[in-house]
Amino acid sequence: MSEQKSYDVVIVGGGVMGSSLAYHLTGAESSLKVAVVERDPTYERASTTLSMVNFRIQFSLKENVEISRYTSRVFEDFEKEMQVGDTRPNIALCREGNLFMVDEEARPAAEASLKMQQGLGCEVAWLDPDGIRARYPLYDAGQYSGGTFGPQDGHFDAYAVLMAYKNKAVSQGAAFIADEVSGLNTSRGRIGGVQLASGGSLQAGYVVNCAGAWAAEIAAQAGVSLPVDPVKRQVFALDPEVKPDGPLPLTILRSGLYFRTETGGLLLVGKSKPDDPIGFDFTWDRKRFMEELWLELAEFVPAFESLKLVRGWAGLYAVNQMDGNALLGEWPELAGFYLANGFSGHGLQQAPAVGRYISELILDKAHALDLSVFDPSRVLENKPLSEGGLV
Ligand SMILES: Cc1cc2nc3c(=O)[nH]c(=O)nc-3n(C[C@H](O)[C@H](O)[C@H](O)COP(=O)(O)OP(=O)(O)OC[C@H]3O[C@@H](n4cnc5c(N)ncnc54)[C@H](O)[C@@H]3O)c2cc1C
Repeated sequence: MSEQKSYDVVIVGGGVMGSSLAYHLTGAESSLKVAVVERDPTYERASTTLSMVNFRIQFSLKENVEISRYTSRVFEDFEKEMQVGDTRPNIALCREGNLFMVDEEARPAAEASLKMQQGLGCEVAWLDPDGIRARYPLYDAGQYSGGTFGPQDGHFDAYAVLMAYKNKAVSQGAAFIADEVSGLNTSRGRIGGVQLASGGSLQAGYVVNCAGAWAAEIAAQAGVSLPVDPVKRQVFALDPEVKPDGPLPLTILRSGLYFRTETGGLLLVGKSKPDDPIGFDFTWDRKRFMEELWLELAEFVPAFESLKLVRGWAGLYAVNQMDGNALLGEWPELAGFYLANGFSGHGLQQAPAVGRYISELILDKAHALDLSVFDPSRVLENKPLSEGGLV
């Protein structure tokens, strides 16, 4: 007979979400038995390690703003908090800012979001074209009315954050199991555990889907249909001949093209397109940068007419096709089956708040942040959330 082990909570997927959740659960209740099943401990295709790793408070949905503010605060003491023995992680936090360029057409919506963010106490300001040029002389902001600038936003080392959560969770008693979940066990409207590709199974009263772009595949194993698709997104690393004087913020043009400086004098560039393919495709396309994105980039930053494409990569967004927002909480039709899915292009910055929130739901504790708007019941009720600022 194949082996059957018993846990309180089994987490499917050990990327940043699964690892953050394992840390929060074991930190809140040391006696809790938590297992994280991750089929690829090298994380070669996990979105966590293929990300642009930007964090920003510039969203138009209040809860997304609150989530990022929470992350920004958590990261201040993160390295100390995550220390295990003598080993303290280094997450290389950089607050170079986020700048959304705004034209006349987009101005009313941008000003409404700005007002909401400022009302919540966020540090974000309107910059006119002269103000933009003064800060970033390489930019040709002529065709824009201005931009909204969040100086406390920035980026960090995603792999370091992932490993920090994982190592701390393990030190608190979580088990990380290198295996593939090949089935979910259910009985009379309740989850009962997971089956493993290696042959055994794990019993648990709670199973949490943290499978990223593979979330719909996992849910389907329990007969649950999620509107979450894997969508290919590409990032290009460039070596410009003219180096900016200092770091450039993540700058988002009206077309959706975005770029920021990276260590080593490099520049990272990307753009989500409506026809980006759905599926598990990790190939990247040099022609896309050379023939499409470069022109657009050089129009806004003429100095970038001369540069070298050093490399590129493709990763997957887990796109919630209903409203682009996260699905957080218990699936209404299957007791004990929780979701932390559908983060599209902003899941890394949401991992601290989401891990904490799902742990509070499972342990029935008071919430640090009320994230109930993201409840997955809205899928069954077909009530999409609106959010205009997603990249
Ligand atoms: C190009 C790109 C740019 C991005 N830029 C940003 C950004 O700037 N800011 C931001 O906040 N976010 C960004 N994101 C999004 C962010 O990376 C993701 O939202 C986040 O990493 C999701 O974490 P996760 O743990 O849910 O998924 P993942 O990191 O993908 O982890 C899921 C894990 O589940 C495992 N798994 C799947 N199926 C099974 C199974 N059957 N059994 C066992 N294990 C399984 C996988 O191996 C994987 O390791 C970007 C993503 C991409 C691709």
